Amino acid sequence: MRAAILTIGDELTCGYRLDTNSQALSRRLALLPADMILHLSVGDDLEAIHRGLDVALEAADVVVITGGLGPTEDDLTRQAVAAHFGLGLVEDAEALARIRERFARFRRTMPESNRIQAQVPAGSTVIYNDRGTAAGFYLPTDGKHIFVTPGIPYEMMGMLETFILPRVRELVGTNHHVRRAALKVYGLPESGINERIQPLMARDRNPLLGLLPHRGTITIEITASGTTAQEADELLAADLETLRAELGRY
Ligand code: AMP
Ligand code: MG
Repeated sequence: MRAAILTIGDELTCGYRLDTNSQALSRRLALLPADMILHLSVGDDLEAIHRGLDVALEAADVVVITGGLGPTEDDLTRQAVAAHFGLGLVEDAEALARIRERFARFRRTMPESNRIQAQVPAGSTVIYNDRGTAAGFYLPTDGKHIFVTPGIPYEMMGMLETFILPRVRELVGTNHHVRRAALKVYGLPESGINERIQPLMARDRNPLLGLLPHRGTITIEITASGTTAQEADELLAADLETLRAELGRY
């Protein structure tokens, strides 16, 4: 199952905020496992969101979109996603009641502008927000699966755990499993490691290895895939044994 992430917000493309949502989403989705093949960030701009959606949908079966679900003029994600598929926006009564109730809890009346946060493209499933006002939504279309959440990391994570992960896990099925491990190497350059473990570094191999240099230490990331968890465990264990034999002293 190929997955892509489209993060939306001028604060990301301008460099005011780091896109931590893509990192958090990828770490969780990778374990299902989903193959994360694209991270893309665009500003709060209808045209840019359309183009971003085209690229993401071309590349992946599952597209997670975060950001731009706020109540103000500069947040355009729900309008852009609806327009992309020629859908209208419909108000969800339950989502609206939840927003009103949230304001009431803080002894405030809901400003009329927040009403849009209860709207989702026609035909999508609402992802209710227990951590904020903006409703998210899930739109399955043309064999693709689109999940849209607010940009606020805490709200995004709530929807990821309760809604997105269980659904993507179902889509992935039960015969794909990954196991990961990391070994830290010190005292050998990347090329030196590569020479010692070259056969294990092949790109079409399972487990797949990656070298990540950082401040004098090189981390070897090992990702094993199997049709059962046990198969993935065994493949991983075999590589760990070889790596320790070749590089143990480092
Ligand atoms: P939004 O839902 O787009 O209005 O986003 C609200 C706030 O969430 C932004 O002002 C950022 O502080 C934060 N945010 C939005 N997108 C991201 C992201 N991809 N990674 C981390 N924080 C984000
Ligand atoms: Mg925004």
